[in-house]
Amino acid sequence: MHQLKKGYDAFQDAICQDPLKYLHPPPKQQKPHSMVISCCDSRVNPCQIFQANAGEIFLFQNIAGHLPDPNHPSSTQTKAALQFGIENLNINNLIFLAHTDCAGLRAATQHYQDLHLNLKNWLQNLQALPADNEAALLQAHLNQNSQNALKHPFIANKVNNNSLTLQQMVYQVENGTLLIHRNGQLIAF
Ligand SMILES: [Zn+2]
Repeated sequence: MHQLKKGYDAFQDAICQDPLKYLHPPPKQQKPHSMVISCCDSRVNPCQIFQANAGEIFLFQNIAGHLPDPNHPSSTQTKAALQFGIENLNINNLIFLAHTDCAGLRAATQHYQDLHLNLKNWLQNLQALPADNEAALLQAHLNQNSQNALKHPFIANKVNNNSLTLQQMVYQVENGTLLIHRNGQLIAF
């Protein structure tokens, strides 16, 4: 708690000095430009990575940054988040942000049978991803998320109408750099 209090006090001091820097646009009504789906890993902080102010990023984090197939029983929460972000908030940029050294992906692909039932349920659709090569694993994971997103008719329609783009990114926790998938390969963002 001490670390949290110290951070919060610093945040309050910064807001007092320059409120527009942190609270712009005024968060009376959010109008985020992007929705980010990423892992809960404490080293992955999308708002910090993109230096986003309040109101800019609609964030949905879960174990491994997974987007289940909409027909899978565990998809209730992700479906609600997508519906709210893409339909209600009309966000036109959906980002899947994977990261290196992801314990969730490692557990799903290498130690699935040892997992607690809750994790097994959540990670079920990830266990068949390629485990031997991290780059291939991350790409297969991102592709699976994109394919599952497009199974939602409201997302597929917006993508077809060019009113929504899907982005695949990889955050490298070891050096703080971000890669983006462009034309079949990962390049520096
Ligand atoms: Zn992770």
